[in-house]
Amino acid sequence: MRGELAKWNFDEKPLLVFWETTKACLLACRHCRAEAIRNGLPGELTTEEAMALIDQVLKFDEPRPALIFTGGDLLMRKDIFELIESAVRKGLRVAAAPSVTPLLTPDVIFSFRRIGVQAISVSLDGACAETHDTMRGVPGNFDSTVKILEHATKLGLRVQANTTVMKSNHTELADIFHLLRLLRVPAWEVFFLIRTGRGAELQDLEPQHYEDVMHFLYDASHYGITIRTTEGPHFRRVVSQRLKDVDKPQTGTLYEMLASRLRELEGPADSDLKAQTTGTRDGKGIIFVAYDGQIFPSGFLPMSLGNIRNNELKEVYSNNPILRAIRRSSNLKGRCGFCEYRELCGGSRSRAYAFYQDPFQEDPACIFQPMIA
Ligand code: SF4
Repeated sequence: MRGELAKWNFDEKPLLVFWETTKACLLACRHCRAEAIRNGLPGELTTEEAMALIDQVLKFDEPRPALIFTGGDLLMRKDIFELIESAVRKGLRVAAAPSVTPLLTPDVIFSFRRIGVQAISVSLDGACAETHDTMRGVPGNFDSTVKILEHATKLGLRVQANTTVMKSNHTELADIFHLLRLLRVPAWEVFFLIRTGRGAELQDLEPQHYEDVMHFLYDASHYGITIRTTEGPHFRRVVSQRLKDVDKPQTGTLYEMLASRLRELEGPADSDLKAQTTGTRDGKGIIFVAYDGQIFPSGFLPMSLGNIRNNELKEVYSNNPILRAIRRSSNLKGRCGFCEYRELCGGSRSRAYAFYQDPFQEDPACIFQPMIA
């Protein structure tokens, strides 16, 4: 896959297609993008329409994008196994992002494995029950999540833990990482907040704290766990800067604290860099299909590009003028527009839109001051 990635043309096809199978979910997470609810909303794709979506993903050339079944909670759909089995049988690489609820039993995880799901991701938002359960809105959810991570890893599924960084957990990041190492979880996806959905009610990190967390993640990516970011593409800028070792890191006290805690818990770094630095961002390598078939650049950028009920996903991804413009880093404005890292990073288009109502504006969470040519 690494070799394929180097040749992947993000103008022609995405790497990942996310499908929000339903809005329904038994949890009530404070930062949930989907603003999850206990019953699905009217207008959800029917089984036949979902099968048609799978066929639309198959229209991309090989190697095809992976299809990520997400939500809400995908297990709230009665036809979910039928749909996943169909996608796998037709040759798609499939991943599942279920919620940790009583529906996610060891038998269900085994069934994912049996029908060919390659990877699952679950959310872990704290290093202890108090932090995680407060965010998830359900007492006992932390213990259940730890058990699911252990179980899925033992079954041989590729397991990814997802953590959304917020003021309520940012000082625990080294401890969360340590827990993942103990559980032998191989991949950690760190999400940065976009002020949409319930996330809008929470206070986001200060830009300096974003920078500190990115530098901490660079340090943490030398202990064998692959680290990726969502809505934090400037992690790639930090990785590049640290590898080149030319710019003095603009780190502050949060970084000092997290780096010190990391060394205390893990000792010296013991692996090569495992940071995922593929240049994907909203609408570039990523596309999102909502519960009702609407197509968006990502799950965090509410600019509807069409609907799979009326439009071909392949056609929209390749030719929609907004997407085409978003993928051209020369269209970016503000600091992102003249930044030497704009190809590699390009800033979060979702955060720019949430902040400026303009998806081409600079990412307000980045403190980097590019050199003006
Ligand atoms: S200024 Fe924009 S493109 Fe440059 S590193 Fe920051 S977010 Fe990325």
